[in-house]
Amino acid sequence: MLVVLEKGTTEEGVQAIVRIIEKRGYTARPIPGGDRVSIGILHNKGSVDAAHFLGLDGVKEVIPVTKPYKLVSREFQRENTQVKIGDAVFGDGTMPVIAGPCAVESLEQVLSIARSVKKAGALLFRGGAFKPRTSPYSFQGLGEQGLKFLSTVREETGLPVVTEVMDVENFDLVEAYVDVIQIGTRNMQNFSLLRRAGRSKRPVILKRGMSAMLQEWLMAAEYIMEEGNSNVILCERGIRTFVRHSRNTLDLSVVPAAKKESHLPIIVDPSHAAGVRDQVIPLAYASAALGADGQMIEVHNKPEEALSDGAQSLYPDQFTAVMKKMNAIRSIIATANGNNE
Ligand code: PEP
Ligand code: MN
Repeated sequence: MLVVLEKGTTEEGVQAIVRIIEKRGYTARPIPGGDRVSIGILHNKGSVDAAHFLGLDGVKEVIPVTKPYKLVSREFQRENTQVKIGDAVFGDGTMPVIAGPCAVESLEQVLSIARSVKKAGALLFRGGAFKPRTSPYSFQGLGEQGLKFLSTVREETGLPVVTEVMDVENFDLVEAYVDVIQIGTRNMQNFSLLRRAGRSKRPVILKRGMSAMLQEWLMAAEYIMEEGNSNVILCERGIRTFVRHSRNTLDLSVVPAAKKESHLPIIVDPSHAAGVRDQVIPLAYASAALGADGQMIEVHNKPEEALSDGAQSLYPDQFTAVMKKMNAIRSIIATANGNNE
């Protein structure tokens, strides 16, 4: 349930209503909106009687929430959440791009890639230090050494860095080195990891589980928000289907569907969806046209020598060309939108 307050209710007024809600044994979560504050009621077992709160001083209306998720839902918060990281804003209508290799392999490798993706216009750098590999015999990542290389990338280029955390055990370590925490597809329903991410001060990119429905994905985001972290970015990275022509199937329709259900920004990772670079490129264009709130694209300076995901990594020159074309696509759409008004 959502208790919507009158415009201009003071902080004291908000706290007075919070106390009344909490006296009844519920959790009250104030949610600042554009011009008025609402208070979400959480941890209720069964339905809440609106009559308890209607008619209180400062209460404009009481809206029942019909969705199983609350904090992530548009019913709770009408305005888009904007997540600001460095020069990037996810959720304000722009499309910041996160680029870099699948895995951190050496300092020279990450610095070389970071310099070229920055020049091409990427606003964040990515690279895995702990890699979730299907085979235990595949390269597992450089671990803490990789995190140190990522810090050096930040110092040298100014780009904020994103990396995946695979388990609660390594969370403190990863959090100390990087700007943004990524939770991978294989961990979307690792509830203890989600809760730990919810207690982090770092923004979190939550990738969609490869067989997760939108509702399950949003529930996973709810775990993070419920612990107090509202800087959550959803990332569609392709789902498992019956096809063999691509690694996964990029579910483009989930972007408008997620935007309808949730105020959280949603970005697209065409690299893991496609698995091969000649499919990554058109999917990146499609995602730009679709209005994704950002993209994550794998780029490698020597893809043929990459220790993971070489086939889907773009060459730096290809990435530069893709960035130019994506900007052109975005500006055509912005102009068309302007002309329609
Ligand atoms: C990655 O970003 O390198 C990665 C492993 O992604 P996903 O969890 O989507 O497979
Ligand atoms: Mn990868």
